[in-house]
Amino acid sequence: MENFSLYENDILKNTIRSMIVKERVVSSLLIYGEKGLGKKTAADYIAGSLLCEQFSGTPCGECKACKMILHKTHPDVIYAVPSGKSGNYKIDTLREIVESAAIMPNEGRFKIYIIADMDNTLVSAQNALLKLIEEPPDNCVIILTAQSRSSLLPTIISRVVSLSVHEVSKDSCEKALVHYGYSKADIEKAIEILGGNIGKCKSYLDGEDIVDAVTITKSITDALISGDEYLMLKEFSELTGEKAMTLTVLKLLCEVIRDAMSVNAGCDESVLISTYKNGAVRFSEYLSKMKARKIYTVITKYIERINSNGNLSLALNALCSEIKETL
Ligand SMILES: [Zn+2]
Repeated sequence: MENFSLYENDILKNTIRSMIVKERVVSSLLIYGEKGLGKKTAADYIAGSLLCEQFSGTPCGECKACKMILHKTHPDVIYAVPSGKSGNYKIDTLREIVESAAIMPNEGRFKIYIIADMDNTLVSAQNALLKLIEEPPDNCVIILTAQSRSSLLPTIISRVVSLSVHEVSKDSCEKALVHYGYSKADIEKAIEILGGNIGKCKSYLDGEDIVDAVTITKSITDALISGDEYLMLKEFSELTGEKAMTLTVLKLLCEVIRDAMSVNAGCDESVLISTYKNGAVRFSEYLSKMKARKIYTVITKYIERINSNGNLSLALNALCSEIKETL
């Protein structure tokens, strides 16, 4: 049976159900969380809940509206298409959305815009959206997704209802992956390495480089913890010429550092999200909150620099020396 495959995430589901049952549908939502946790699936789930013929608070997955959303052919669910250089949204794309939002829905009770992966959207483009979020036309719902809330303007954040997506249990992750047709043995291995992040497990099972990236991230984390500058430099220099891999490693590293900061802040280990939780815990013992934040900021700065086509080996060298200075 085909249905909206959003596993667990009950807080999000209950919030949406309650909005619908109490007839208090908000016009702007933000779904946030790490890559692979199902932000786009959650956006479709919400669209399904809003347009399902049953309108019971959960999408039935069976009616014409649900089927069309599952096939991405519903005329009232519009997916913004990124066309900028770094996969971001151009200001014109967002302006068009603002203009077309005033037109009534075709057949559903709502017109829904899904603007996914907002993280690299420039401030000017975000500002173009602001008008729509401040004064949405009747029956218009905007669903944004981003890895981090801090990627969006505070003026946007203050006007949207933010909902987070989370890692799921091993059982749900396995169920989801079985549904995609992977073998049990492969699935077990994927979950062991990557935890309950369905998207990341799927990338791994599809043969993407994520396992190499995870291994390198672990080595770099260990090098950082042991203060072995030579080792750190060596691991980073092996990434030269591999832009996509470098970006994956740096993002994974950010997750480890973010986890270390959570441990430092007294959070329970169950909220950790990185692929190297054990490393994050050790890192937290070694790293003050301030230093962790500094390194995090340095790495995100270099992610942006590499994204905007800066020279990779220069960027990696500079990154290493900035990290060294911080430690
Ligand atoms: Zn339905």
